[in-house]
Amino acid sequence: MSISSLSPKDILVRRWKDCARCTYADTRKNVAVVRGTLPCQVLFVGSSPEKSEDLRGEPFIGKIGSLCAAALGAASSLEDLPIISHAFTHVCACYPGHDAAFSGLPDTNVFACQARFEHVVKVANPKVVVLMGKDASEHYASMFTGCLRMPDAAYIVRKGGVSSPLFHRMVRDLANAMKEVL
Ligand code: SF4
Repeated sequence: MSISSLSPKDILVRRWKDCARCTYADTRKNVAVVRGTLPCQVLFVGSSPEKSEDLRGEPFIGKIGSLCAAALGAASSLEDLPIISHAFTHVCACYPGHDAAFSGLPDTNVFACQARFEHVVKVANPKVVVLMGKDASEHYASMFTGCLRMPDAAYIVRKGGVSSPLFHRMVRDLANAMKEVL
């Protein structure tokens, strides 16, 4: 298959699927490079893949992906906006061997994965970046003007998901941000 016939996602996956720049190459099964529509209007950024994401090789699957999609849908309805294209990625694209959300990712792994992260951002070219959790906010808030900083998606799910006050805050913040740029 020629490179010109590959989708933007395929190009990203092909470039990074064998990456061994950091120690997480030993703990992952698959590199969860990116999921969703590319380019996109909204890019969600988490910390690192959980076990289920590692097995599928895709970030933000299951409840956390559904939560973000539901928040976008509710925010669009709130402001009568059109369907919002979106994609998902993480600060580190490989499973660390444990849930890193509680302890934080080591700087060495974050720096090692920065080129992969910047490649995803370049291809996604989002209008709104949503940094979810401590790792994304700490390492990338200064990279994007007007980005949104929110709690980790898995944390919002544990706190009640779409019924929680955190979800309603997420919807409101997304609606305000999208209204500004779309
Ligand atoms: S986490 Fe990033 S830098 Fe480390 S092996 Fe995976 S893709 Fe490469």
